[in-house]
Amino acid sequence: MVGSALEKFFEVNGYKNIVKRTHSELDLINQKQTLQFFMDESPEYLFLLAAKVGGINANDKYRGQFIYENLMIQNNVIHSAHKSGVKKLIFIGSACIYPKFSKQPISEYELLNGYLEKTNEPYAVAKIAGIKLCQSYFEQYKNNFISLMPNNLYGPNDNFDLETSHVIPALIRKFHQAKLSLNDQVTVWGTGNPQREFMHVDDFINAMIFTMKNIDAKQIYTMGISHINVGSGEEVSIKELAFMIKEIVGYQGNIIFDNSMPDGTPRKILDTSFLNQLNWTPNIKLEEGIYSLYQWFKKKQGQKKAL
Ligand code: GDP
Repeated sequence: MVGSALEKFFEVNGYKNIVKRTHSELDLINQKQTLQFFMDESPEYLFLLAAKVGGINANDKYRGQFIYENLMIQNNVIHSAHKSGVKKLIFIGSACIYPKFSKQPISEYELLNGYLEKTNEPYAVAKIAGIKLCQSYFEQYKNNFISLMPNNLYGPNDNFDLETSHVIPALIRKFHQAKLSLNDQVTVWGTGNPQREFMHVDDFINAMIFTMKNIDAKQIYTMGISHINVGSGEEVSIKELAFMIKEIVGYQGNIIFDNSMPDGTPRKILDTSFLNQLNWTPNIKLEEGIYSLYQWFKKKQGQKKAL
């Protein structure tokens, strides 16, 4: 999702000399292949978007793969970037790096201040290691490597698989299918009480470009922070989100909350004052973003049927 949105941004804005590889073209888990790619291509500015990602169920179920694949990808890419002389690197993490019961809104200083949420602990440990790798390479080698921590992202090309996806694509699909099949109830996982902050992927792309252009590693590490938060400031409960998506989809049936599924972290809203002070702000409101994602989803469903 983030990779395709960034690619679109480059296209629309006339960027040239973009070097990219799909998963099948380059296996970033393979150290030799990764180093060879960097030595051959010598990229100057790097966005490290490749990662094993998923929603609460995928994180909990595929714990071994989430920690192993993320550690391997980031170790291989960050070290190869160092070896091949990348001028600036942006590593992408997630708001789940913070302790389960962090002070809200969560500032960058909360990292490693307490226990992590159990469902995504392996993923979070890998991402924390990535942040520390970037920071340590700055401290030892002066590499201009920075980490950005977005809150829950959504947008076109998201994963809509009901077992492994995040909540927004899952609910869009569930309500849409229930509407078409005249099913009179939709199941939402957990109690509906957790609160989440969501951000459209295009706002995040703007934050990544803004960071690449305007922020240097020295600036953040000398302030005593190891990474930068990126959030929308718009927080809703899962219950509010479910009713919002039900409305957008135009579904008339009932919502059932399944308490046997985990809630995860009760609340995670990010303190984004660091980025806001530099004049970066998000543009896309949640309702508007979900509405446009639903239009995108329907179009894709139509294309699939036509095939
Ligand atoms: P999280 O922020 O890491 O917990 O990621 P998710 O987006 O997977 O889940 C956010 C919240 O939505 C959790 O409290 C889930 O239990 C809740 N949720 C409700 N229904 C669903 C669903 O169908 N899929 C997912 N992934 N989460 C759901």
